[in-house]
Amino acid sequence: MVINMEIQFLGTAAAEGIPALWCDCERCRKSRKVGGRALRTRSQALIDGTLLIDFPADTYAHILQNGIDLLNVTDCIVTHTHSDHLYPTDIAMLKKGFSHVSEGFHLTFHGSAKVGERVSPQIAGQLEKEGTCSFHEVKAFEPFAAGKYTITPLTAIHDPNAGPLFYQISDGEKTMIYGHDTHFFHDDVWAYWEKTHPHFDLVSLDCTNACLPLNYVGHMGLAENVQVKEKMLELGLADDKTIFICNHFSHNGTHAAYDDFVPIAAKEGFGVSYDGMKVTF
Ligand SMILES: [Zn+2]
Ligand SMILES: [Zn+2]
Ligand SMILES: [Zn+2]
Repeated sequence: MVINMEIQFLGTAAAEGIPALWCDCERCRKSRKVGGRALRTRSQALIDGTLLIDFPADTYAHILQNGIDLLNVTDCIVTHTHSDHLYPTDIAMLKKGFSHVSEGFHLTFHGSAKVGERVSPQIAGQLEKEGTCSFHEVKAFEPFAAGKYTITPLTAIHDPNAGPLFYQISDGEKTMIYGHDTHFFHDDVWAYWEKTHPHFDLVSLDCTNACLPLNYVGHMGLAENVQVKEKMLELGLADDKTIFICNHFSHNGTHAAYDDFVPIAAKEGFGVSYDGMKVTF
């Protein structure tokens, strides 16, 4: 198999992190004690070292923990405005004086209009004048180019006030889905795929609830992840070589502690993300 792309999961938890800040639940106690892969920071991923997905407050910790050079990152696609995915205040750290960047450096944030409402005020003024940062508004089902990638924003079923989108990312050879945060995919998304016939090499799915049965709209658990996988296989969007990954965990999900969840997910043909995990495909 020719390897084209690499995704590195930098943060793999929902808003509270695992363990959560003040929590004494069974999953948080266990994760604190075990450490390592059981510790999950807030959501972020990096494609091929150049394309960032989301910009949470934990970005700073992620670059330290993983030895990431943010000067190699030219584009950041933002899924929605929830705090575990977007912390716009830190964009100010790109201003001259807070940072010294090489001539020609430019970072583009891409996201929905709601994301723009949070990001644009940080860029307006000094950063705009220095020409190092800009915002690009994107819309569902309208593919755009970012570096060597073609990125298709897709309608997410999640808090509408957060301007949610999830992303299909292709480098021309390989294609992946970063499916965060969303409920079981929208009918319009399935219809778009039936029309465009993509083939996915890697699919990362919202597994906020882990084994806890879902009783609200906006996220998924393992049961819904399995339904997505089955439907993708049925429609020919995926095959037995497609890598399926559960990601974005809440401590409220039953069996959510890493060591507990890995064998359960494996039975359904899913890998389980952890902070720092690299997958090449
Ligand atoms: Zn989230
Ligand atoms: Zn907890
Ligand atoms: Zn969210």
